[in-house]
Amino acid sequence: MLWLQVTGGEALIDPHFAASCRLAHDLGMMIEVLTNGTRLSNPATLAALAACRPYRVTVSLYGATPETYDAFTRRRGAFARVTRGLAAGVEAGLPLRLALIVTAQNAHEHDRMRELANGLGLPFKEYTHMSPTIYGGAESLASQSPAHLKPLERFTGCNAGHTFLHVDPHGRASICKVGRDEQIDVLAEGVQGLARLGTIADRLMLRTGGCSGCLLSENCSVCRPLAKRYQEAKAPLNTYCQHGRKGTTG
Ligand code: SF4
Repeated sequence: MLWLQVTGGEALIDPHFAASCRLAHDLGMMIEVLTNGTRLSNPATLAALAACRPYRVTVSLYGATPETYDAFTRRRGAFARVTRGLAAGVEAGLPLRLALIVTAQNAHEHDRMRELANGLGLPFKEYTHMSPTIYGGAESLASQSPAHLKPLERFTGCNAGHTFLHVDPHGRASICKVGRDEQIDVLAEGVQGLARLGTIADRLMLRTGGCSGCLLSENCSVCRPLAKRYQEAKAPLNTYCQHGRKGTTG
């Protein structure tokens, strides 16, 4: 294992974060931490990150003002905490970058979010497509800002299950964080069980279920596991599937 991405929930509130990140570091892994940034000004958090030295800390940003940010996250004071955290992270020399999450609720602050990133001298990426939840829930889709959706690129394949994998908090491994239909209980089977992930990946990537027989699958922009999540969430076809776009048949 060469590369470890620590995701959430919010990893920095996990009591095991410091010890597990340190272990991964001592085993020689490259570590990326995804966080909402609200704990970065905490001295214990900064000390934990200094001890495990991630090569990248990615902070999600949900607005550029307290009103919008706090309303979106439903946490009063969240914007003040994240801006304080970002300042502390910059001061500590953390390898920060921002993920600008552009939604219907904060799209009017899109430019200000960019300015905030530029003002801190931080690189950023923008995310406008909301995915369904891993349980196929549609609640996240309502946050999407249709005016900000960019055309999706063609899906050209993925090494999920072959060169990388996902493990949930219960030690269940899957090919990635989206394709969790078949999981391996690492605690019960040991790491030997992971050898089955490649076969599972090849099976999950087949255009089955709601994509069976699709004549447009060669040009599809989503992998089959993600298409399945969208279909379970009954997402509008035009947000992920070519059959929802004008003039396409097949
Ligand atoms: S275009 Fe739509 S139906 Fe066809 S493979 Fe992609 S998601 Fe499935």
